[in-house]
Amino acid sequence: MSKNLPQGQATFRGRGLAFVHGTRIVVKVCPHCSQWNAPKAADRGVCGWCAYVPSYEDLVPVTPRDDPREMFAFRGHLTLD
Ligand SMILES: [Zn+2]
Repeated sequence: MSKNLPQGQATFRGRGLAFVHGTRIVVKVCPHCSQWNAPKAADRGVCGWCAYVPSYEDLVPVTPRDDPREMFAFRGHLTLD
């Protein structure tokens, strides 16, 4: 399998939030139920709430210039020290 996956932050066709490392997809925010995923489930690459399994075909790399509103929406979820 020689998939050319986007690396780093990505979305699932503009929904949810994922982090891609190599061929590994960590689901941060589920595109299906929009829940902030539990770290344990995120590491397994699934949604801990609805058992959503990410599909490689849906991955779209996040570029801050693409949709500023989306970036601001995500920032609202994050708590920075
Ligand atoms: Zn889910």
